[in-house]
Amino acid sequence: MLKDAIDPLTLQYEFAKRYFREFVSSKKHITAYLEPEKTPTLIMDLEGIKSRYLEVKYHFPQFKVYYAVKANDHYDVLRVLAELGSGFEVASSEELRKVLSFGVRPERIISSNPVKPPDFVDYAHQQGVNRFVVDSYAEVDKIARVAPRARVYVRLVVPNEGSDWPLSKKFGVDVDTALDLLLYAQDRGLIPYGITFHVGSQCNNFRNWLIGIKRAVELWNRARLKGLRLQMLNLGGGLPVKYTYEALRIEDIAYYVRGLLQKFMPSMPHELQIEPGRGIVGDQGIMVCRIIGKAKRGEENWLYIDAGVFNGLAEALGGIRYSFYMEQDGDLKEWTVGGVSCDSMDVIARMVPLPEPEIGDYLYILSAGAYTTVYAAEFNGFPKPEVVCV
Ligand SMILES: *Cc1c(COP(=O)(O)O)cnc(C)c1O
Repeated sequence: MLKDAIDPLTLQYEFAKRYFREFVSSKKHITAYLEPEKTPTLIMDLEGIKSRYLEVKYHFPQFKVYYAVKANDHYDVLRVLAELGSGFEVASSEELRKVLSFGVRPERIISSNPVKPPDFVDYAHQQGVNRFVVDSYAEVDKIARVAPRARVYVRLVVPNEGSDWPLSKKFGVDVDTALDLLLYAQDRGLIPYGITFHVGSQCNNFRNWLIGIKRAVELWNRARLKGLRLQMLNLGGGLPVKYTYEALRIEDIAYYVRGLLQKFMPSMPHELQIEPGRGIVGDQGIMVCRIIGKAKRGEENWLYIDAGVFNGLAEALGGIRYSFYMEQDGDLKEWTVGGVSCDSMDVIARMVPLPEPEIGDYLYILSAGAYTTVYAAEFNGFPKPEVVCV
């Protein structure tokens, strides 16, 4: 290997090291928790979550923030956000129950899950939640039946290119269908309320917001011509966090979005909403794991850790690449990181630069605050991560 050339492995490791050092030095209060007895442990920084929420509020001043509960539904995470006055986006009765348990009023809750179980709609309606997304005629019928006179907003489909966790195809409709759905909802006694779209999670492509807003504006204007007075525009989630690269900054996305709204929507909607999940909690969590084994298989160096895709790191299967860090010194090697279970799908990452560890050493996984514990099962008898909120 050319010693002088900066190889990608070293660059990646340096990024992880700098990220870890900055994380720890900006959050001194978590230092005491970095060597837990039990692993895997997810350490969540509640102060960090508060500042992220306030940062989003600051940069999106005209917007109401509805935290997407599915990203991390830990009791303390929801509690601090509830105390700050955040709104919540819920998809299920269980999520709703949790949020209501903090005394959050139903006016602070929406459901943007396009296909909702009827018993959830019923429960939400009984609790006073009355804003629901739709993107199909069957859903309009369901809501009209179970939650008469509710307000409905329609979900547009937008491209998800440049999002590390694309959602395309499962949900969303084109502008023509969206307009028809709103009119249909009105006929069914529901209140056509607004428009939403989702640019894809971990979105690092400004263009997706551009296309989403352009389509929303087209729908907005066409709805007006049909006599519908929509009130609300919801920009969904997608705010990215730092993983193995610097993500788009919230202030830059907010600046861009504000520019688009001013340009295309001279008379602003009465209500603007945003539903970040990952963007609030993703980089406020660090997962501490232990090395449980290593092996050389052919040319490949394998490391095995006590977490895996079934007990916390599911997103590794679908495109999320984490930064891994260990405190040891020593020459870097390229590793394949295997999860704790016996399933051959349980591989967390390939081409991971790390020094040679010993069994029992701690391994740190950065940006583990979103979509980790919420996905975790106890497959093969391996525990879900402990969660420590500090
Ligand atoms: C998951 C989800 C979100 C949150 O997405 P992030 O990319 O985590 O911000 C927001 N809105 C809806 C409808 C979702 O399903």
